[in-house]
Amino acid sequence: MTHRNAYMTDELEAIYEQTHTFVVNEVRPHGEAWEEEGKVPRDILQKMGALGMFSLRVPEEHGGLGMGYLASAAFSEALGASLFGGFDATVLVHTDMSTPHLLNSGNEEQLGRYLPGIMDGTHIMAIGVTEPDAGSDVAGMRSSAVKDGDGWRLNGRKTFITNGVYGDTVIVGARTDKENKYGISMFLLDHGTEGFSVGRKLDKHGWLCSDTAELVMEDVWVADENLLGEQHRGFYETMKNFQNERMVLVGMGVGATQAAIDLTNEYTQERPAFGGKLFDLGAIRQRMGMNQAKLDAIRASMYHAAWVGDQGEDNVKLMSGVKAWGCEAINDIMYDCLQFHGGMGYMRESAIERLARDARLLPIGGGATEVMLEEVAKRSYV
Ligand SMILES: Cc1cc2nc3c(=O)[nH]c(=O)nc-3n(C[C@H](O)[C@H](O)[C@H](O)COP(=O)(O)OP(=O)(O)OC[C@H]3O[C@@H](n4cnc5c(N)ncnc54)[C@H](O)[C@@H]3O)c2cc1C
Repeated sequence: MTHRNAYMTDELEAIYEQTHTFVVNEVRPHGEAWEEEGKVPRDILQKMGALGMFSLRVPEEHGGLGMGYLASAAFSEALGASLFGGFDATVLVHTDMSTPHLLNSGNEEQLGRYLPGIMDGTHIMAIGVTEPDAGSDVAGMRSSAVKDGDGWRLNGRKTFITNGVYGDTVIVGARTDKENKYGISMFLLDHGTEGFSVGRKLDKHGWLCSDTAELVMEDVWVADENLLGEQHRGFYETMKNFQNERMVLVGMGVGATQAAIDLTNEYTQERPAFGGKLFDLGAIRQRMGMNQAKLDAIRASMYHAAWVGDQGEDNVKLMSGVKAWGCEAINDIMYDCLQFHGGMGYMRESAIERLARDARLLPIGGGATEVMLEEVAKRSYV
């Protein structure tokens, strides 16, 4: 029970156990077929919805559990045991990277319109911030929204959008105030809206069962009811979820890395070499011991940053820090795990090959390591 820590209550343990059991039984046996297809089937998402897994962060008055950061930490860590980063990403973009913007900024009508489908898994969400010419520099966004009658006219392109091909609604950012660098607004953009299309389904290095889209908005008209939050305040509204987004990427990485360490220990304990087993070799035992120690430290730091956030305190420095060093360290550990599988680690048929490949995204997505380190550094002056 390596996930146990001071912050886990019985309720959080139950979330962890339910999710862990679910992914081991319902995802692991099918994940490879989904990777081939480049798609997570909707029925598995609906099963998760029916079990309440998409309701953890939804306030109780809207039918959810009204939980905080710690619930998402436990949920994302447990998802990591699926062994398929693309599956974890599909789920977490829906629950923890897109829906929170609706929860933070949506009015009663919007919450009523979208939350029932979000919770039962029939309506899958995406977040469209990144553009071909604006990634880390969110304020460099070029997509525009211009007032037009009782609504807005949207133009522009988004790229690398998870759930952008098979999802139902994308929360997109667009510039509404040309005079102000931060004059961005958020809109609820449903698939099927005239002028809104998938330009390309992108082919990736890892996360193969997760769909990633380039999206095109050509004179798309949306009604005023689809403006999410206050006009021109979208940049600041989006920032409200940054720490949660960073955390769940660490969480899925922690779960996946624990699985990778366990697989590697098992493999090296069975693999004959030099008259004994690989695990008997001091170099391997010691490195794997260090890897477990590092992973325990990442896990503890993540839960601590989650707990600080749940106390209503600023956790930007802590969360950015663990996102930076944690995701880099996760990749170092994955490197060792693949290395100690030898040639088999390089084969597509071994889970470790995919785990190492999937982990590569963690230091890039949701705030690259270098951007995270700036967040820490600028909060480190006395
Ligand atoms: C598989 C995948 C899924 C994604 N899903 C989504 C999604 O659902 N929605 C969405 O909006 N976006 C999504 N993204 C986009 C992701 O968040 C961006 O790729 C990420 O923020 C980096 O932006 P960029 O790719 O434009 O890199 P750039 O901003 O061009 O940066 C390139 C590199 O430069 C370095 N760098 C950048 N800024 C600094 C700095 N200030 N100081 C020092 N070095 C720096 C970093 O090493 C960085 O990796 C996804 C990306 C991928 C690959």
